[in-house]
Amino acid sequence: MSVNYAAGLSPYADKGVCGLPEVFDGPEELKAKVETVAQLIKESQYMVVHSGAGISTAAGIPDFRGPKGVWTLEEKGESPHFETTFEDARPSLTHLALLGLQRAGYLKYLISQNVDGLHVRSGFPRDMLSELHGNMFVEECEKCGRQYVREKVIGVMGLKPTGRYCEVVRSRGLRACRGKLISTILDWEDPLPDRDLNKAEDASRRADLALTLGTSLQIKPSGDLPLLTKRKGGKLVIVNLQPTKHDKHAHLRISGYVDEVMKQVMELLGLDIPKWEGPTVCESSTATSESSTDVKPPCAVTAKAKVKKGLIKEERKREATQLTDNGSVKEEEVSVKRERADSPVGINEEK
Ligand SMILES: [Zn+2]
Repeated sequence: MSVNYAAGLSPYADKGVCGLPEVFDGPEELKAKVETVAQLIKESQYMVVHSGAGISTAAGIPDFRGPKGVWTLEEKGESPHFETTFEDARPSLTHLALLGLQRAGYLKYLISQNVDGLHVRSGFPRDMLSELHGNMFVEECEKCGRQYVREKVIGVMGLKPTGRYCEVVRSRGLRACRGKLISTILDWEDPLPDRDLNKAEDASRRADLALTLGTSLQIKPSGDLPLLTKRKGGKLVIVNLQPTKHDKHAHLRISGYVDEVMKQVMELLGLDIPKWEGPTVCESSTATSESSTDVKPPCAVTAKAKVKKGLIKEERKREATQLTDNGSVKEEEVSVKRERADSPVGINEEK
């Protein structure tokens, strides 16, 4: 299936700030900053990483607001260039480095706005991952919340029925659940998944280090989660080529390619970057830590996670927000509730 899932979404007017110029730290400055990050990671007790579309551009999947992003080109009346399909896309160095950091015990929780499924397919444990905007490969039972990770993209968006039914058999009796399976991909107005968002918020509050990779942090509420860490006294490190909404709040701001930064970080920490050996799904972090790093559970393992659909809460809708002149944001905006029906709502995140 085409990577252009954006074409499957409802039209929406405001997609946030697009096409800002990319900025690059010089080699010496980058090196010094990366050494600082590596030190911060070493000293951290609970690191949370926030990933956006900028970590998947190296995998051939376009971002949204980068110079060649989907929404940037849309503004110019152009179409994005797709170099791969979701099924063929391979995790980037950054995806695999994050897996390495998790296995080494440094990365405690991963929060992603990406729907490309690359974190899951790289074998990152699903119980340590929140996919706030859904996953192209995951469908979920409307009735019991069971999630199914498929080998091919679901092909349906906006939490709509996929045409398949739940096969969960309850312990008593042999009747299957038969609930309708629905896509997990959010359309513009859809609420975020409660389970993933709650876990992401808890982890963000608990964290003493928030590292954001390849996101301009423009989408609410996802982009504001790193501020929860800062509010609790933790540090915020931002790695992105374009300016982000929260640069002003960063303890450290790195303007460089995420893959280059992560490559150097792993070297400084003395960690190997796991190799990609094809799509892998890992449900539980405990299983990962017990097995060697070479053990690859089969793909398409089904999830135990149950997601309850709560009430639709306005503050949980995604919104693209404009960058202010100086990129600043007030702390109280962290839990801001915006209920205007015409407020811009974003779909995914970009670098
Ligand atoms: Zn079910």
